[in-house]
Amino acid sequence: MSLNNNLNNLTATKLSKMLRNKECSAVEISKDVFKTINNIEKDINAYITITEEDALKKAREVDEKISKGEALSPLAGIPIGIKDNICLKGVKTTCGSKILSNFVSPYDATVVERLKNNDVVFTGKLNLDEFAMGSSGEYSYFGKTKNPINLEYVPGGSSSGPVAAVAAGEAIMSLGSDTGGSIRVPAAFCGLVGLKPTYGAVSRYGLVALASSLDHIGPIAKTVDDTAMLYRAICGFDQKDATSSSIDHKINEDINNFNIKGLRIGVSQKYFGNGVDKEVVDNVKKSIKMFEDQGAIIKEVELPSGEDALAAYHIMLPAEASSNLARFDGVKYGFRAKEYNNLEEMYENTRGEGFGQEVKRRIILGTFILSAQSDSSIYAKGRFFQKKIISQMKKVFEQCDIVITPSAPSTAFKFDNMTNDPVKMYMNDMCTVFVNIAGLPAISLPCGTGQNGLPIGLQIIGPHFSENLIFKVSKLHENFILNI
Ligand code: GLN
Repeated sequence: MSLNNNLNNLTATKLSKMLRNKECSAVEISKDVFKTINNIEKDINAYITITEEDALKKAREVDEKISKGEALSPLAGIPIGIKDNICLKGVKTTCGSKILSNFVSPYDATVVERLKNNDVVFTGKLNLDEFAMGSSGEYSYFGKTKNPINLEYVPGGSSSGPVAAVAAGEAIMSLGSDTGGSIRVPAAFCGLVGLKPTYGAVSRYGLVALASSLDHIGPIAKTVDDTAMLYRAICGFDQKDATSSSIDHKINEDINNFNIKGLRIGVSQKYFGNGVDKEVVDNVKKSIKMFEDQGAIIKEVELPSGEDALAAYHIMLPAEASSNLARFDGVKYGFRAKEYNNLEEMYENTRGEGFGQEVKRRIILGTFILSAQSDSSIYAKGRFFQKKIISQMKKVFEQCDIVITPSAPSTAFKFDNMTNDPVKMYMNDMCTVFVNIAGLPAISLPCGTGQNGLPIGLQIIGPHFSENLIFKVSKLHENFILNI
């Protein structure tokens, strides 16, 4: 889908400067975004709820503040979309599910509150695989989202709306969530930058929980600068999240002009062989060679295998999800089935009609894993692999400063390619899930194009709280790719 030259196709960094220089107004930026939404949203289906009226009101407010010469955040007036599992007060938060299709959030997530303090313009709530379970954007109750680069292909999931909106110019940036790859895989499929921060660096308060020990909120944008700008605004300690961290990770340090000489980059043949497409391997290797040419030291390291990681993940995730999703029972939130004869039937019918197939599959699996007979055997195996992965990654970061892998084993695929084969779908996350299990920060960057004309993604993983180093290396890579 071709993009026009309107303001909505520029970066947030550029728009922020233009606003300050009075080369455009916040209202003009928003109007370009909503014009595009009106033109192409019926093809893309990135949004579940569009908040145009509130957005334009906020944009006018920002313009007034600018005209009065008030000091503003660089994010002021920038149109940003929010994945629909993050609460925005007074607006529906559906999680892409029938069971929450009428739920209006009574409060703001901490990330939303922080963006409100930065005078951001919210464009609306973005589509996702139901309850963030999925890798392709095909599992939403509100219909599938399409890849704006080629409408026959999936945008990736579960943050399908957040990536499609940015790639299509229907938002300048967005917030997604990542439990096993849901920011990085779709960012890779749509040629964008997406960061999954360190566990605890960004508050999860107001994010509807999927698997609390693996869930993260993170930024999605067109460039590294934009991603860093959005990350700076949302990170930091929050007393409303018991797992939030107060570690100062020097996020305001300059990320430009980084000298990569002597930086140790870990690579593992496990992620450049079986199961990963050759064109992905070739392109990611080209980037690694570029870093080596500039003085980086490339080291072979022992990363956890994708199989171990997926095995641990698909025990931990359904176990936690079955417990987190128990609250959706037709009493406290959202949808309730119309027909039932007693309380038990009300629960059964509500959950039976309210949840989609993939969500039911995981709830059943999780309930089984946590049930009395299986608890010690299956769950213990998951914990075993989890501990193994964490200690393996600790060792890896004694030997190197960052790790590079592909973000996903392939480029985007066509619709209905994997919906009948859940295990094949789960394999899409083979490069990303171990990072969530270890709680490490990782970014996906565009790195070339596949034969189908769709983008390839490269993943940079760092030690806990190394986001700024990741941004510095990413910036260098971006300059290389853009040939600046
Ligand atoms: N695709 C993965 C899954 O379906 C990851 C989901 C996510 O990160 N929210 O579990």
